[in-house]
Amino acid sequence: MTNTPTHYDVIVIGAGPAGYTAALRCAQLGLKTACIDNWLDKDGQSGLGGFFLNAGCLASLALLESAKIYHTLTHDLKTHGISAQAITLDVPQMIQRKDDIIQALRLNLAEAFAYHHIDRYPAKGKLLNNRQVEATFVGDSNRSPVILEGKHIILATSSSPVKLRCAPIDNEFIMDSVAALSLTCVPKKLAIIGAGVVGLELAAIWSRLGAEVILLDAQEKFLSILDEQIAAEAYQIYSTQGLDIRMGARVTATKKDHKKVNIDYQDQDGTHTLRVDKLIVASGKAPNTENIADSNADLLLDENGYVHVNANCRTNLPNVYAIGDLSLLGPMLAHKGIEEGVFVAEQIAGTHPPIDYGILPSVIYTDPEIAWVGQTEQALHAMGKAIKVSVIPLKTNARAQATGKTDGLVKIIAHADTDALLGVHIIGAHASELITEAVLAMGFSASSEDLASTIHAHPALSEALHEAALGLKNKSMYAVLSK
Ligand SMILES: Cc1cc2nc3c(=O)[nH]c(=O)nc-3n(C[C@H](O)[C@H](O)[C@H](O)COP(=O)(O)OP(=O)(O)OC[C@H]3O[C@@H](n4cnc5c(N)ncnc54)[C@H](O)[C@@H]3O)c2cc1C
Repeated sequence: MTNTPTHYDVIVIGAGPAGYTAALRCAQLGLKTACIDNWLDKDGQSGLGGFFLNAGCLASLALLESAKIYHTLTHDLKTHGISAQAITLDVPQMIQRKDDIIQALRLNLAEAFAYHHIDRYPAKGKLLNNRQVEATFVGDSNRSPVILEGKHIILATSSSPVKLRCAPIDNEFIMDSVAALSLTCVPKKLAIIGAGVVGLELAAIWSRLGAEVILLDAQEKFLSILDEQIAAEAYQIYSTQGLDIRMGARVTATKKDHKKVNIDYQDQDGTHTLRVDKLIVASGKAPNTENIADSNADLLLDENGYVHVNANCRTNLPNVYAIGDLSLLGPMLAHKGIEEGVFVAEQIAGTHPPIDYGILPSVIYTDPEIAWVGQTEQALHAMGKAIKVSVIPLKTNARAQATGKTDGLVKIIAHADTDALLGVHIIGAHASELITEAVLAMGFSASSEDLASTIHAHPALSEALHEAALGLKNKSMYAVLSK
């Protein structure tokens, strides 16, 4: 191990969206920056982008796009008056396309890092005392660990899929979400433990490619983070699409048997056994804090093992920050990590633009997508707020009809007296894009009247937002169609 530490203004540990954004912004601001990341792909290659790019949201989105195309070709062409024969599925090619996209985006990041003179360490980082970091190289056992010293340290090591004792991962029959994004053939019958964001995205991919998918979730309530009306709509749409969602179903044991998996689970009707070809475990995430800091460093963790931070992403240690999925400040989403990366970099450089977590959008990239910002109707009732609510089904929207994407609705909640926008909830095609109008409106403290008086192109999906805002004034011309 080298005894003379290399000095940096900032050392970032972890190169997911939170870490790479922090590193890039620090370097842009003129700070001498290093970034340590231990990601290795199946060929032993290191790469920037973290879980998000290599085995999370982006990888899932690339496959979902392929699955949607396949599903459209095999199910939806007839209604357009188009026929196509001999549509075949080449799953390894689909996985290759996903890997090529990941590779292209990794290269973009590597180029941006090189351009900004960020020193990269393909290594496992460990925080020592006095803002020193030990970097133990991965993928090259001949390189000795090095010690770096930073004026500021940003921890961005995120979280990993939770392991269940009742379903040990072998990545052949019982897989985690990483392996589930690299399957080379479509399982006939697939079970997923966890009907949350990750489980539903994986279900959307493999069911569209032809798998029979059963989701098992111990919680009684489906997508409890959502506005209840949107969750009910989502349950109905996904069930109609063929997903078998079993809530209140607690998996107690699994057993591999003749290239199948037997799953024992309990629900209110008793004990059941399900026999499937593959099982995916997507039952939540746990923080990557094991060995992230030497015990002498005294980094404070909370009761769930996440790094304890204040509202400025500062840990208990001076000039040491934690961002992204590593802390429980805000939801575990890629763009919250990105926002925190910029926020911390700018704090270090001397400015303090605060993050308004209240207007952070959330997205579930199923088909149709779900996106929301602000409060749910139930939360606002619980707070005793006087509210008004307007709901517009997408089937009333001309663009949705023209594209055949009529599933879903837009819901707007405003304050009954001040008309301030308090929550916007969308389930439908391109919800992830549509929600930005609501985020912008709420960011500028707009009222529903402001949305209603904004001219929207016709025909456009965004008119559903406009129409819902008009609905709050009883001025919607199409709300009647939803009755
Ligand atoms: C299948 C799936 C679907 C998802 N879908 C969505 C979605 O629709 N929308 C959304 O917003 N989010 C989604 N997410 C979540 C999103 O991927 C995470 O919120 C995001 O990746 C968190 O970013 P991060 O920068 O905190 O960490 P990550 O992207 O997890 O990156 C952390 C990096 O730190 C490295 N690391 C860990 N420990 C060390 C160490 N000691 N030393 C050095 N490096 C270390 C890791 O190897 C990794 O490269 C999804 C996740 C999954 C798995």
